[in-house]
Amino acid sequence: MRAAVLHGVGDLRVEELEDLAPGPGEVLLGIESALTCGTDRKAYLRGHPRYLRSGGVLGHEYAGRILATGRGVTSVKEGDRVIAANSAPCGGCFQCERERWSLCENLTYVFGGFAEALVVPSVVVEHNLHLLPETLPMEIAPIYEPLACALKAVRDLAPQASSQALVLGAGALGLLLTAALARRGVEVTVLDPHPDRLDLAHGYGATAVIAARKESSDVATVRATINAGRGPELVIEAVGQPAAWALALEMSCAGGAVCLFGGCAAGSSVELDTHRVHYEEVVVRGSHHHDPFAVAEAIELLQDRSVPWKQLIGGEVGLDDLERVLAGELYPTALKVAVRA
Ligand SMILES: [Zn+2]
Ligand SMILES: [Zn+2]
Repeated sequence: MRAAVLHGVGDLRVEELEDLAPGPGEVLLGIESALTCGTDRKAYLRGHPRYLRSGGVLGHEYAGRILATGRGVTSVKEGDRVIAANSAPCGGCFQCERERWSLCENLTYVFGGFAEALVVPSVVVEHNLHLLPETLPMEIAPIYEPLACALKAVRDLAPQASSQALVLGAGALGLLLTAALARRGVEVTVLDPHPDRLDLAHGYGATAVIAARKESSDVATVRATINAGRGPELVIEAVGQPAAWALALEMSCAGGAVCLFGGCAAGSSVELDTHRVHYEEVVVRGSHHHDPFAVAEAIELLQDRSVPWKQLIGGEVGLDDLERVLAGELYPTALKVAVRA
């Protein structure tokens, strides 16, 4: 079985691994579709302890077909097209009992999408394995993963329909957050410096876009154009840089909510204006990862053909060219690249 294995920073090798077989409660998934994501690039360029601990096969956005089932598995059979999510909560810990599944203290992660196949652990088979509807093409199925993260973030904010939101950043997640908000009837403005990405934002449900220029003038523009000078009631940051977090905290209207969604480099910090939080009652929260309910919602939303999901995928490579994609040599401006094993 061929797989792209990360051995350390900047050291990715395509290797022939031993064929896999599912144990009791597990299934063997043949990967038929896999997509790159910013996290894969970060793992290649900076290292990623979770990947390296898991054996190093990269790829966490994938979907495929059941090749074999282990003893005791009755929910799927050989040949089924499925999404086996890239994680599953245990269902029994302190956080799971409080329905905060993304914070599960025993969360099982599954990597290994950039390979011909992977073994899906029993906890995922039990809690987060979903049959792919006929109407959902395999090539876009892996988008369920970032979309589920976006849907969970929006669910956490519980927005009211017709409220005004701002999404900072029109990368893949900014666009998916826009789709998740628009689905709830929220009016979404997207802020980003790249005109081509702002063009895409309309297809994902943005009602307005603003070309980002300079941080201070962007705050003034956002406030002036949304809610008659007050600013948006919801702000979601999808850039993952402390400067963008700071901007998000400045932009929301009094009584609004800010979701700091983009993960920043370890050790980052941002100053918080106490006046905004106390006197202006701005709610600040984060959101991370997804859970089985968000995955199910993502699978449903992906069947909406009015959203141009395929536009996220800017190229396709075999395993041997994956390293050039992660190094930024191939398809440097693509939001995602499909990887064939
Ligand atoms: Zn991802
Ligand atoms: Zn748990």
